[in-house]
Amino acid sequence: MHDFLYDIMSQRERERILLLDGYIDSPGCLGVPPYLSPLARYIFGAFCDEEEFVIQYLTVDQFRTDIRTQKKQYPTDFHSNIIAQYQNYDIIIFITGVSVPGKYLGGMPIRFSELRRFPRYFPDAFQILCGPATVYGIGEEGGKPSVPVEKLAPLYDAILFGDPEIILANLVTHKKFPIRHYRDDLKETAHDVRPDMESIKNLAIQGAAIVTQHPNFSEERGGNLICEIETFRGCPRYKSGGCAFCIEPSKGQPQHRTISSILGEIEALYDRGVRHFRIGSQTDFYAYLHGNYDFPRYPRPNPEKIETLLKGIRELCPDIRTLHIDNVNALNFVLYPEEAGRITEVITEYCTPGNIAALGIESVDPNVVQANNLKGNANEMLKAIEIINHYGNEIGKNGCPKFLPGLNFIMGLPGETKDSLDLNLAFLNEILTRNLQLRRINLRKFLVPSSFSAQRARKITKHLRKNVSRYFQWKKHVRTEIDLPMLKKIFPFGRILKDVYAEKHDGKGTLLRQVGTYPITCFVPKVLQLSCYYDLVIVNHGFRSLTCLVTPLQLTRLTQKELEAIDGIGKKRAMKIQRFRPHTLQDWKDVVPEIWEKILVIQPIIAENEN
Ligand code: SF4
Repeated sequence: MHDFLYDIMSQRERERILLLDGYIDSPGCLGVPPYLSPLARYIFGAFCDEEEFVIQYLTVDQFRTDIRTQKKQYPTDFHSNIIAQYQNYDIIIFITGVSVPGKYLGGMPIRFSELRRFPRYFPDAFQILCGPATVYGIGEEGGKPSVPVEKLAPLYDAILFGDPEIILANLVTHKKFPIRHYRDDLKETAHDVRPDMESIKNLAIQGAAIVTQHPNFSEERGGNLICEIETFRGCPRYKSGGCAFCIEPSKGQPQHRTISSILGEIEALYDRGVRHFRIGSQTDFYAYLHGNYDFPRYPRPNPEKIETLLKGIRELCPDIRTLHIDNVNALNFVLYPEEAGRITEVITEYCTPGNIAALGIESVDPNVVQANNLKGNANEMLKAIEIINHYGNEIGKNGCPKFLPGLNFIMGLPGETKDSLDLNLAFLNEILTRNLQLRRINLRKFLVPSSFSAQRARKITKHLRKNVSRYFQWKKHVRTEIDLPMLKKIFPFGRILKDVYAEKHDGKGTLLRQVGTYPITCFVPKVLQLSCYYDLVIVNHGFRSLTCLVTPLQLTRLTQKELEAIDGIGKKRAMKIQRFRPHTLQDWKDVVPEIWEKILVIQPIIAENEN
């Protein structure tokens, strides 16, 4: 049983709340571990009055572990044991909102089937469902329509369709607890939204207290917990209706937070020990506090405000380890190259290396661009990629390029034909030919929003199903022809990557990542202690991952598996090395002359130097 459950039993006079985080991954916000979403923090902030409430944060993965443990120990009555374990809670708040399902190393978002099953474990608690899924449905799999949350209505006491932090904070302000007495009030306010962005200022600061309860947090460098920070909501393209598949334009004119509000929140998180941040919860970081619509397509970016924000963060957080951004609109570079260039320069100066500008390309087929009112054409996208490369491709001190573009494509958008995929591939080849760098390419199937009519959804689903094998082939082409050469260029053999965090064991090896935005996954063929930082040397490449060894390297102590992992050695040579046990560099040259140059690149510590 978790320690906090004992604490809670001794605090029965206060309202006891369990915040069960099923994670968020929407185009504008990430909250899958090691990320912690702003929404979870804001809700926590609404209940931070310690006189009245006890609030506990729990991830859905922690909850699943509890169920598994009980099942193993008490296969016949695990269900009643779980009920007993959590019976002291008065209110359970479920957060859910994955619109773009993916695979995650750090956790698995709550599934629709779990949202149906889990309420049974809390029969006496008042159960609330909230998060982005209440608006756009629950995305289970790309290519299938998302499931409307209304299907879960009979299982929950309340579903919050508006801004949960505001609805819940208002209940607290008006002292409407025990909450079940105010069920009707809650129904009336279930669609309430933020009156303005200042309304979250205090919630954001108070909610910083949640971090010490997060499983990814530790006092040593903040663990690998990374807090997603919000700057504004809405899409600056709302005037032209935005991309046809996206809900952001429906939020109307974007609402921006003030710089002081963001800095106040970051300072509160930093004071609690957080060392990793991503300014990721907005549709376009470059559009934060933007200027006028000098071109009707998009507003003018504001480099001064962005510099003030980033510089302010660095001044407040001298020991910050990660400062990254997410989401960038290519139109900034096309319409306002001077301002966009200046912002890119500012980002490379104040943010930490390994940073990525996630550009939503979706498709460069002109028919698809037109049918979905996408941002721009292939040439416009190339311009953005060129400018970001110009400022960002220098290698930073953690071994990663400072700031590179990452591209998102969506398969199956309306208007797509068999030529569309060829055009997209040709576009990617053009990037390679021009010697431009991309940090990553995301290929996703269109997730049909629950707002689409049944007829439209059926048509798209049919198209996606019909093209399954074509998508599979195309993805394979992208992975082999583009991803692999790009990865070798950006992360060459022998490069040292600093501060890589061991997250998970995988067979007889370990998966590690640096903390940040879309970090590359590194596999080390050795079982390492988890939740620690290591420096690694790159010795081989997968399509979207690296094989590495812990550095400094001690060649004489490498196992058969570690030797095999080094590009060019393979099983037989590894056995030969094991047999002859070369000690000096000259020995190595004699035993494996054909890979001698590679051994020199990875700069090993030779045994005789160790003695
Ligand atoms: S540019 Fe398109 S995808 Fe991006 S937020 Fe706006 S409408 Fe959505």
